[in-house]
Parts: sequence; C-alpha cells; structure tokens
Amino acid sequence: MANKVKVDLGNNSYNITMIEDFKDSVKRFASSTESQCMLITQENIFDLYKNQFNDLSNISNVNIFLIDEGEKAKSFDSTISIVNEMADKRFDRSSLVLAIGGGVVGDIAGFAASIYMRGVKYIQYPTTLLAMVDSSIGGKTGINLEDGKNLVGRIYQPIAVEIDTNFLSTLPKRELNAALAEVVKYGFIYDREFFDYIVNNISEINNRNLDVIQEVITQCCEIKSDIVSEDENEDELRMILNFGHTIGHAIESFTKYEELLHGEAIFYGMKCALYLSNKFGDLNNDDYKQSCQLLSKFDLPSLKIDNKDIFINFVKNDKKFRGENIRFILLDEIGKSRISEDISFDQIKESLSTL
Ligand code: ADP
Ligand code: ZN
Repeated sequence: MANKVKVDLGNNSYNITMIEDFKDSVKRFASSTESQCMLITQENIFDLYKNQFNDLSNISNVNIFLIDEGEKAKSFDSTISIVNEMADKRFDRSSLVLAIGGGVVGDIAGFAASIYMRGVKYIQYPTTLLAMVDSSIGGKTGINLEDGKNLVGRIYQPIAVEIDTNFLSTLPKRELNAALAEVVKYGFIYDREFFDYIVNNISEINNRNLDVIQEVITQCCEIKSDIVSEDENEDELRMILNFGHTIGHAIESFTKYEELLHGEAIFYGMKCALYLSNKFGDLNNDDYKQSCQLLSKFDLPSLKIDNKDIFINFVKNDKKFRGENIRFILLDEIGKSRISEDISFDQIKESLSTL
C-alpha cells in the first residue's frame, strides 16, 4: 500500500504521508529549522498523549499552545493570542506551525500561520478521521463570525500532512462513525470501486481494523487530492465535494449545530440527494438501492423536521447559491456526480420525506 499521496499544486505541492509515530515526525521538522516551532493542540488531546507532548516540550525550539474546544475556538480572539505568542517568542519567517488536532485545530492553526509575517510554513497532523480524510487536505483555513461559520479565512496550503492513525484509537465512536459520511461520499461522487470496497469492509471499518482504515484513508486522500489538484480555488470540480452538503448544512443550522455532528448531518443530506438523483436525475433504481443500503448501516441520532417551510429557508440561506438557482450535486451513477441547476426548493422539500 502506498504510504504517500502527492497533492499536486505546482509550487504549493506537498505530500500526505502515513507515519508510524507523530512524535518522531515533529522532532524531524523541529530539527529542520533553527527557528521556533509552535505546536498547536487542545487540552484533551494533550492529556491523552501527555507522554509524547511532554517529551516534545523538552526540545528547545518547541512551544506548545492550547486552544479551546469546539467551534467557539475558531475566533479572532484565539487567532490573536496565537500570533501574539509567536511574536513574543520571536518567531520569524522560517518558523513553523504544527497543527495537532481535528478540524478546529487545523483551521485556526492554518489561518494563524497564513497571516503571521504574511505567512509561515505549517504542517497538519490530523487526529480525527474527519480531518484525516477531509479538512487537513486542500488548504482551507479559517475562523467563524457571529453571522456564520468560516466567513473569514484563506486557502493556504500546508507544507506536509502527516497522518498517524494511532490517534484514532482514542477517538470517540460517534466521531469515527460520523466521519464515515465523508468517506462514503468519496465513493459516491468519484469512485465506484472504492464504494464497493467500503461495502465489503464495513464491519472491519466499524471495528477499527487499522489496516483497513489506513487503506480507506489513503484512498480518500488520493481522491480528494485529485479533485483539489484540478481545482485549487473551488470553481467547478471541487464543488462535487459538496455532495450531501446543501441539505446537510441546512440541517446543521436548523438544529443550531447542537444535535448532530457534521458527518451525521451529511449522512442525512446524502439520503435526500440520492432520492433527488433517482427521482429527478439519472441515478438508476439499482444504484439507488445499493446506496441506501450502505447508508442504512450507520447509526444516526434521530432527526425531526416538523416544519419543512422553515427548514427550506435554511437551505435558501446557503452562501453558495448564485441568484435563484441552487447548484445541487447529483449522482448520475455510483462513482459519477455532476452539478445540476434544475433542482427546485419544492423538490428538496419532497426529498425530506425520506428521512
Ligand atoms: P473534526 O475534525 O471532526 O472537525 P474537532 O476538531 O471538532 O473535529 O474535534 C472533535 C473532538 O474530538 C474535539 O473535542 C477534539 O478535542 C477531540 N479529538 C480530536 N482528536 C482526538 C483523538 N485522537 N482522540 C480523542 N479525542 C480527539
Ligand atoms: Zn463535510
């Protein structure tokens, strides 16, 4: 199995590497610079991997900075604390930022790295399955505003993504399960063979067989890296990564980001998107049935959308719409997706009956 995937972005290219031990990798990067390193993580990750972090904190140019839990950590305030700390410690242009955590840590650490001295290098060490297969790849960084998530940010690529799957041993089951939504999504939108692989290995994946999970992560990285390399700035191709997300995002905001994890909302969003692809698009009954069968294997918290009209307003508020038309991602078949401008809000409302 390949243990490296190249994200091909010309001068901004980098490798995603499967590593055995994040501590060795951090040591290597720290010794590659004469300047300072800022290792950004969260308290509960620090506590779970205390021995390794304590060991790393003994290295003279390694500093550890803890940010808060949850989306509220993605704020201007914590960005300011990070860059102030870097300035206090005399960080310069050849300093490094190392993000060790899930999407929250990666987003804010990448954003701070992108603005300190107009940009210093950073490395992603994703510790959640979601970050390993999705958010650590592609260079999206950012913070939230009161008016919405990720409203301030940049596309700023890391110099490396280093994946140590041992982190997954402590990841809560619900987080792992939710992240599988993005995994299944890659099969749906891009790769039928990968879809079949997931179907055949679903119990191994759920039982955290690390060999199978590593294979799954590698495949996801290859697919995401292919898509991102074609389209770094999210114009057309990259939009297919939004499969299940138009309705999924609306579900997240409808439930005030309190009841469901991102991946869980995306599972629901994909159910609706599959219904629409079958009823109003080209997805044949057989592929539709196979897709629904796979989705039914994942446990999800219950979801009740009692007022569909109010719900639709959340769909309409999605920042990705241009004018009146929704740009909706449909499957033509398993492994093949496209952007459609023909899906109406009424049809979306109808698809909610599958939930
Ligand atoms: P995501 O990558 O899903 O966007 P977050 O950054 O919000 O996730 O992290 C989800 C939660 O999981 C946070 O509370 C985070 O501290 C915690 N977490 C991250 N990685 C691990 C891990 N390897 N083991 C246990 N908990 C973790
Ligand atoms: Zn997503």
